[in-house]
Amino acid sequence: MPARKGADFLKHLRDNPPEIYHRGERIQDFTTHPEFRGHAHSLAALYDLQWQHPEFMLAKDESGDTIARSYFIPKTAEDIRLMSKCLLKNAEFTCGMMGRSPDYLNRAMASYAGGWKYLAEQDPRFGENAKTLHKRLSHNDLCMTHTLINPQANRAVSVAAQKDPYLGARVKEERADGLVIRGARMLATAPVSDEIMVFPSTLLTSNPEDAPYAFGFCIPSATKGLKFLCRETVSYNPNGYDHPLGARFEEQDAVVIFDDVFVPWENVLLYRNVDVCNRAYAASGAVVHMSHQVVCKNIAKSEFLLGLASLMVDSIGIEQFQHVHEKLAELWVAHETQKAFLRAAEADCHLDEYGVMRPAWDPLDAARNLFPRTYPRLVQIIQQLGASGLVAMPTHEDLNGPLKEEIKKYYQSARMEAHDRIPLFRLAWDAAVSAFATRQALYEYFFFGDPVRMAGALVKSHPPKAAMDKVRHFLEKMRDELDGDTGELVP
Ligand SMILES: Cc1cc2nc3c(=O)[nH]c(=O)nc-3n(C[C@H](O)[C@H](O)[C@H](O)COP(=O)(O)OP(=O)(O)OC[C@H]3O[C@@H](n4cnc5c(N)ncnc54)[C@H](O)[C@@H]3O)c2cc1C
Repeated sequence: MPARKGADFLKHLRDNPPEIYHRGERIQDFTTHPEFRGHAHSLAALYDLQWQHPEFMLAKDESGDTIARSYFIPKTAEDIRLMSKCLLKNAEFTCGMMGRSPDYLNRAMASYAGGWKYLAEQDPRFGENAKTLHKRLSHNDLCMTHTLINPQANRAVSVAAQKDPYLGARVKEERADGLVIRGARMLATAPVSDEIMVFPSTLLTSNPEDAPYAFGFCIPSATKGLKFLCRETVSYNPNGYDHPLGARFEEQDAVVIFDDVFVPWENVLLYRNVDVCNRAYAASGAVVHMSHQVVCKNIAKSEFLLGLASLMVDSIGIEQFQHVHEKLAELWVAHETQKAFLRAAEADCHLDEYGVMRPAWDPLDAARNLFPRTYPRLVQIIQQLGASGLVAMPTHEDLNGPLKEEIKKYYQSARMEAHDRIPLFRLAWDAAVSAFATRQALYEYFFFGDPVRMAGALVKSHPPKAAMDKVRHFLEKMRDELDGDTGELVP
């Protein structure tokens, strides 16, 4: 059966461990390592989840096989609606805290397969590769990480003009059977994965010297020569009570090093044509389908923070204060706004030039540009409502320690006993204060790229002609209504 269950995922990971390093150690078994097992088991739980809701989390592909719905190529408005339901279910499971749950890049791969004609324009092989890769990935229900950005050495010059031409991953050798890649990429979130999608960032210049950096391919994460160097974990205590979010959803971020990695031609989707590479996300529809997943994640995440804040307010009896209402209202509005964007994207979905049903882009583009600016405020509200309660919570060890009885007394709140209040406030701490929370805030800010440059792209791609015409029309009307000599309104 192509769609996997959690145990299948864990077995595949044990049998094919990527070369991942953390704090000077090569991790051998992610399913048992204290700092990786939480993520591995959350991923496994997501694979089980799809079998608990097969009616909207699984789908039949063209060959009649049962695949994860997130790998499905939608053809109808009903497909889009079911896709939303599936993406929301995944995101709710992780409280929106796992940005790179498998469905994120599954949507990208399905888009490249659906929009294979775009890739075929450069080279017919690349179009075929997209379809074959999609089939292999969906039929094995594999999960992917991805990396787009070149190392942050000197941003004043292009990747080709860095001191060392092999700083950014580039083609070292073009062979009859494929490409050899050398250099590094930053950054791949969720390096614990079955496959890696290596795509160009959209920042390549059209200079010929950038061409060796222009490629897109997908290979197994356990490919020889591919190394992932992780940052220090933000889940520094794997205890699920003390670090309720970090212990479960810490995805890790890693720099990816290509030590002469061989990429067979069958795995290549883009190559050397900078212009084709730069347009690939938009033209294939991948950015739309990935944003569809992201808006669902944002809905789940904002709802989680709304629920969290509301329970805290109730717990310590601060519901009568006006500024508390204002803050809860802000959370509610943020949540409803993301829901409205999704609804609009679904309502205006349309068949694209490749016959794939696409959610409407404008509401999704608005959603992905808004959320990086909204998220820090939502977290700040949790901080302002929780106040010292967020940094005063004992650990699980304390609950059974010598101050057990004191804890029962001093940690009660207006409407909760200590044993209920402590986990609630520990959860709020992990959402708004801990290292995990801070990394989440950074993540949300840069989730889809640099929001500053995203805004630039938005302005370029959405010329507000209709709005300008309306103002022009008003200006003309103004002129017609004025006495030319006095500027008075002519009645
Ligand atoms: C937690 C986290 C997880 C991530 N996960 C992934 C992932 O899974 N896969 C992936 O591919 N990427 C990932 N990224 C990378 C993300 O896409 C980038 O952070 C984002 O595109 C910005 O690029 P950069 O980090 O290289 O910043 P830089 O480009 O180095 O920018 C640094 C600063 O300089 C400014 N700046 C630089 N150049 C310009 C310019 N030309 N114009 C205007 N301002 C400029 C930026 O605005 C910013 O303030 C992740 C990032 C973070 C923080």
